Amino acid sequence: MRGGRLWLGIRTSSGRPAPAATPRGLMPFSFTLEATDSRTAARAGRIRTAHGEVLTPAFMPVGTAGSVKTLTPDELRAADCDILLSNTYHLSLRPGVGTVAAMGGLHRLMGWTCSILTDSGGFQVMSLSPLRRVTDTGVEFRSHLDGSKRLLSPEEAICIQDGLGSDIAMSLDELVELPAAPEVVRAAVDRTLVWAERGLAERERLRQDGRGAMALFGINQGGTEAAERARCFARLGEMAFDGFALGGLWVGEGRKLGLEMVEHDCAAFPAGKPRYLMGVGHPVDVVEAVARGVDMMDCVLPTRNARRGTVFISTGRLVVKNAAYARDERPLDPACDCYTCARFSRAYLRHLFAANELLGMRLASIHAVHHMVALVRRAREAVSAGRYAAFRAEFLERYHSSETLAREPGADPAGIVAEPAREARE
Ligand SMILES: [Zn+2]
Repeated sequence: MRGGRLWLGIRTSSGRPAPAATPRGLMPFSFTLEATDSRTAARAGRIRTAHGEVLTPAFMPVGTAGSVKTLTPDELRAADCDILLSNTYHLSLRPGVGTVAAMGGLHRLMGWTCSILTDSGGFQVMSLSPLRRVTDTGVEFRSHLDGSKRLLSPEEAICIQDGLGSDIAMSLDELVELPAAPEVVRAAVDRTLVWAERGLAERERLRQDGRGAMALFGINQGGTEAAERARCFARLGEMAFDGFALGGLWVGEGRKLGLEMVEHDCAAFPAGKPRYLMGVGHPVDVVEAVARGVDMMDCVLPTRNARRGTVFISTGRLVVKNAAYARDERPLDPACDCYTCARFSRAYLRHLFAANELLGMRLASIHAVHHMVALVRRAREAVSAGRYAAFRAEFLERYHSSETLAREPGADPAGIVAEPAREARE
């Protein structure tokens, strides 16, 4: 059953009222496009789910196993986060969907009253599980926890996400590792389309049964081959999905090619449904993807980096442990108004990381989530004001300025260290 009826009367920092509980069966999902930038393809919109409103563009922190590591729900709300992503693969193995459902659903179990998007589990099966085998039936795999043999089918992926009480579920797709031969990409597109139809049919079956109220997004595939992506969407776009995701990108193809595919997909996607770019969370990628028409993104990168002592700030990427900050009284980001930046110095953060104090991870994570949500909020305001192109130019100039960053001998003069194009969702 769907949980999350524990409304606490929270008012967000943007002044929106707390979401009201919605009776089961109303299927409350909707997307309203509120503004489109005239010089770019950037959009501002609003998603409604049974757990309230999600302002778009949205950045979704990743709560892999039912928690955004080190952070409480209240801390996420203080950052104005209104949606997070949780991982079907992890939760279905531990504690198991039966336990989550018995505890009233994921919202109630983790004390989170806003929206949750769940992935299909396919990405983790492909990236974490040993001995996986993809057939038309689904993906056979062994649990990375206990080695038990499992099958994730398109139907099972939908049932699990329904059992978790997800607000937005994802269709199971086949992700191919790039580079891949054209026939491999083509076969993955074909299979993804069949699985998409089966997933939708399964949700329909659940709805006949009084369940399956969640929204369901289809995932476009085709890797970096524009023709395959177009072929995939020609059929996917005709299916009754509530939104569409851009799959198979940020897996090592590089920012330039990835953004070309984003532009290509967004031009084909319908204007009236949300567009979700999976696994993207570098601030530059977020700003560039929004410029091309993306509405939603998720990535572990900002929070994972933060736990390791590296944070994104408005002028670049700050390595907290850097010795140059040992007596630096400035906050992590002088332009940030998060709790961490309001209260603590770089010197203190550096000390906490050097001494392996857990508070360092927490304070850096608080900043990381706040920074990303604030970034998409500013992007949203810029779209609404019809000045996204100027916003993007100002953001990029500032981000690459490194003006408040320490410079060490041998470091990249811009303070930007090459990073993997994509960090796996954990
Ligand atoms: Zn901050």
